[in-house]
This record gives sequence, structure tokens and C-alpha cells, in this order.
Amino acid sequence: MRKKLITSFLALFLLCIAVLLIYCCNLFTITYKIHLKDDIQYKNELVKSSKNPDYTVDKLKSIMGPYEIEEFIKENDKNPEIYTPSEDNLKKGIFNANFHAHTTNSDGKLELTEYLDLAAEYANKIAPKPFYIAITDHNTVKSGKDVIDILEKNPEKYKNLKIALGLEVYSEMGPVFKILSDKIHIHLLALGINPYDEELNEVFKKIRGKDDKWNYTSRSFESAIKLMSKKGLIGIAHPARYIRYDNVCHYETYIDYLFLKYWLSAPNNLKYTEGYYQSYDVENPEIIEYIKKHSEIFKINKTGDIDNHGKSLFKKI
Ligand SMILES: [Zn+2]
Ligand SMILES: [Zn+2]
Repeated sequence: MRKKLITSFLALFLLCIAVLLIYCCNLFTITYKIHLKDDIQYKNELVKSSKNPDYTVDKLKSIMGPYEIEEFIKENDKNPEIYTPSEDNLKKGIFNANFHAHTTNSDGKLELTEYLDLAAEYANKIAPKPFYIAITDHNTVKSGKDVIDILEKNPEKYKNLKIALGLEVYSEMGPVFKILSDKIHIHLLALGINPYDEELNEVFKKIRGKDDKWNYTSRSFESAIKLMSKKGLIGIAHPARYIRYDNVCHYETYIDYLFLKYWLSAPNNLKYTEGYYQSYDVENPEIIEYIKKHSEIFKINKTGDIDNHGKSLFKKI
């Protein structure tokens, strides 16, 4: 009873500090926006840094730049239906966004071209509304490069898709006090990256090692956010999942602590988390509600992705 009282008090205290900090940080967002405004510049940079003389910006119309991604995420913060591939939403073409998918470049079962072909097929069905997607393979920039190459060869085929170049980074946090588990594994999504960026290539080359294979290597939560927030829009993937995986005993404190850390590590960037994640049916509904409510308190936008690993465009496995 006493322990519960102390942890609740601690959670409330952290929450008050967090809200105060967030309001202060909001004052400093203007500079970052100026950088994001120009998606054309982003695409020029992609072509230039690819060092491929055959690539042109004209063929990258399907690529979303960071500004477009940010606007889309903010606009759809309270719109779970567009992220939900229910039978009805598929029939009516309401489902049209999924910013989290894996291919054989990490632990997915579909080749990247197979995934893009399936996505293009669905996009053609719901056109003129685009289908917004991101390829977010674990710990690798390879998929981003492959997407650019595929589009450069056949832009027409994928014209109804809007694609964010991304990846999913493993990170870890803790232990934090006695109430959080020894170590919590946090997956981070980065969208709108440049896969040719030298620093990113160096980092993931080291992680992939001699065999050049993706693996589960994690870096600290703070350092991952610090690095990735300079390279794209960094968000927290499936925040509810770690509670079960890492035996977190007081989820309220954990969620508030996670959101607070996220704010402190990259105060000026867009904030988003997978509040409407499609595979949450195995999680405690109270936790999901807490995440949704507290992401609003912390001014973190909610996205809702599938996290494809299997052969289906609409299911996780
Ligand atoms: Zn993940
Ligand atoms: Zn994933």
C-alpha cells in the first residue's frame, strides 16, 4: 500500500515537471520548422548524396519529405481510422496510412519490391487518395536506398504511393529506480531520413558488423534520440509493448518517465508515438488508454501502424 502511494506520488510529480517543461520547450520550435519547410531541398540532397548520375528529383515524386510527413502526422493525430485496416475501412478506402513496415532487409518476409508492389496495388484502388507508407527496417539504411532506386527505375508504377524513407532503431533505457525493470527496450522510428547520410551509414555499418547483417544491437535511448533527431522525425514505436516484455511493474510511472525523457532528449522536434498500433489487442486496454491520454498531456501526436513482418499488407504477421 505504502509502495503504491509513493509510486503514484512520484508519477504525479514527474507529470507536473513534464508539463511545465513541455510548455517552455514549445517556445523554441520555430527554428526547427524553418529547416523542415523545404522538402524540395531534401529531395535534391537525396539525389546529390546518392552520387548516381542517372538519378533525378523528378522521379522521386512519391517520396515524402520531413515537412510533409510532419504535417500529415499532426493533421491525423485524432484520426485512428486512416491507420486501421478493418474490413470496412479497406472496402471504403478509409485506411490509407502505415508508417511502420519490415521487409527482408531486416526481419520481414516480403522483399522490398513485393511490399511496394502490394502497396501500389492498394494505392491504385483508393486513388486519387494516396496510400501513405514508410519502410522502417531495423537498424539499417539499406531500405531507404533501395526505395530510391526502385522509384528512379519506375516512378509511374508507384505514383499513387506516398513513401517516407525510414528505419527502426533499437534503444534501451534504465534501470530507473526500483519501480522500473532492469532495462527497458525502446524501439524508435525515424522517418524522412537521408539513407546516404555519411554519419548514419557509419553508425549502421558498425552495428551490422563484418557480415553486413541487421541485428538487435541497441544504443542508449538518449544517444539514439540525439543522433536520429538530427536526421529525421524520431518517434516512439509501440510504447505499450515494453511493459509486458520487460516486466514493468508500474506502467503509469514508466509511461510518464518515457514521455518526459523523449521530450528532454529532443525538445524541438515533432513528437509522435504509435497510440493506435494495430497489434495492441494482446495488451491491457487500461494501458492503451493511459498512453493515449498521456500522449495528449505531453503533446505527443498519435500515429497507428501495422508493423508488417509477414506476407500481408494489412497484418503484422
Ligand atoms: Zn519494434
Ligand atoms: Zn517494427
